[in-house]
Amino acid sequence: MLLSKYLLPTLKEIPREAEIPSHQLMIRSGIMRQLASGIYEWLPLGLRVLHKVENIIREEMDSIGAQEVSLPAMQPRELWEESGRWDFYGKELIRLKDRNRRDFCLGPTHEEVITDLVRKEVRSYKELPLLLYQFQTKFRDEIRPRFGVIRAREFYMKDAYSFDATDKNAETSYNNVFETYSRIFQRCGLKFRSVEAQTGAIGGAFSHEFMVIADTGEEIIVSCKCGYAANLEKAEGVPPAKVGGKAGKRSGLKELEEVETKNMKTVEEVGKFLKEKPDKFIKTLVYKTNGECVIVMVRGDHEVNESKVKSYLGVNEIFLADEKTIKEVSGAPLGFAGPVELKIKCKLLADYSVEGIVNGVTGANKKDYHLKNVNINRDYSVDEILDLRRAKEGDVCPKCGKTLEFSRGIEVGHTFKLGTKYSKTLRATFLDKDGKEKYFVMGCYGIGVSRIVAAAIEQGHDQNGIIWPLPIAPFQVLILPVNYEHEKIRTISNRIYKQLESAGYEVLMDDRDERAGVKFKDADLIGIPIRVTVGEKTLAKNIVEVKLRGEKEVREVEPDQVQKLIPELTKK
Ligand code: ATP
Ligand code: MG
Repeated sequence: MLLSKYLLPTLKEIPREAEIPSHQLMIRSGIMRQLASGIYEWLPLGLRVLHKVENIIREEMDSIGAQEVSLPAMQPRELWEESGRWDFYGKELIRLKDRNRRDFCLGPTHEEVITDLVRKEVRSYKELPLLLYQFQTKFRDEIRPRFGVIRAREFYMKDAYSFDATDKNAETSYNNVFETYSRIFQRCGLKFRSVEAQTGAIGGAFSHEFMVIADTGEEIIVSCKCGYAANLEKAEGVPPAKVGGKAGKRSGLKELEEVETKNMKTVEEVGKFLKEKPDKFIKTLVYKTNGECVIVMVRGDHEVNESKVKSYLGVNEIFLADEKTIKEVSGAPLGFAGPVELKIKCKLLADYSVEGIVNGVTGANKKDYHLKNVNINRDYSVDEILDLRRAKEGDVCPKCGKTLEFSRGIEVGHTFKLGTKYSKTLRATFLDKDGKEKYFVMGCYGIGVSRIVAAAIEQGHDQNGIIWPLPIAPFQVLILPVNYEHEKIRTISNRIYKQLESAGYEVLMDDRDERAGVKFKDADLIGIPIRVTVGEKTLAKNIVEVKLRGEKEVREVEPDQVQKLIPELTKK
């Protein structure tokens, strides 16, 4: 490919809206452009990378007998009503109407459609196991689209679905895909790890996420030397000093006391004033879900893990209540809510650690007042006590008791063991060996193809630009004639270009009439792994320079030797 003809609009300036290196570099290197918030156009250079990732995934999926299909993005409401997700999915689901005012959505994921296909077309256990996959543009109206294609509203996904006759076989399918995913990410040249995860909007029995290790990642990975690893949403984590005792075993309960705390709303402010530590506070948060309110309580030094609340309630979305709702529920403005004598009956959920608080502090449900010496079961009761807090630094491993480690990652893949969740709701059955009708046992498996491109850059870059892993680089070789107008340079460059292309390499040649400085800057920016520089001075000694993007060393070789050196440099 000749660069003079190639659509590669590189930029010097860092785009203002881009917060992290991969987003900045994807814009600057002409990989993509934004059309609207969270919606991107892929330009030729970027699309080459996307296709490389896609091909690796396709090869690996095919190698385990998976079959490729292509399912519609536009899906009828009725199918989503059947699974119960038309309501459950909430605002993330993009909905539209056709000319006859019939409701449709744009698929954020395809469990409904694939289950519908299989229930219609697969009848017997003899046709199982079945593993189907597709590459598809997915639509999710994310609450906060950001980081470019890492959290987009329209993005490219590979999704796969397994159908088995028994739970045991389904587990085999799950493990097969799990291992295939590891190979895929390895082949893409990524540093990654798998962790235990929440099942979220997809639902099902258990799930794992594949995380690319990166400091800028949105996900927090909680791990331990013993092998335990989970994302923060799922991580159990127990605080180092034991969580607290059971409510029944306590003594020394003092009398409930109301104290004025004018304009003091936070745990810090009230704690300082009352000379009480944060772990004495019963932090009380009012949430709303599906129009109902739920009170969630954690210890003052802890945070609520909303995923755990959602998972317990079986809902996809919860929101912190607005001022008006807080007033209705507690009778006081924000900052003074507590579990004692609420104005409206709500569901009360408490984290384990709340049960251990003796003579605690909490809002008095009255403006500018807090309560001291609050005790569970005497002053208030709860509906459920469970794990609702977010694990934090200093917590110990729930498996072995050692201190947990915290790091960051980008989720690039997600595997779910679904069981019969969708086959039951959609009544998808097959005839088993014993002649009985049974529900398919399912699994589903996603890979964020477009997100991988960004994740690879997040892992592979320096201050000058991208450093692609060879297997997914848009081109393997960049030929950089320092001055293409110079006859000898042009002749030699063209020769190397032809030789490498006919040997099957993907080569980009910078034949533009640009200053050398511009060419070198762009070469570093777009990050093609091997650069062959053809310049006047070195050519006088019958030499061209070969350099790897990720290394400092420059190899000097005769022009005719380049085609021998490249296979060595591209060997694994
Ligand atoms: P997240 O927690 O990041 O929102 P998710 O659990 O909603 O992800 P899945 O439904 O499991 O994601 O989707 C499968 C894969 O698709 C994810 O592992 C991720 O790589 C990718 N993905 C999900 N949402 C987006 C998005 N908004 N933009 C780009 N890729 C995404
Ligand atoms: Mg999501």
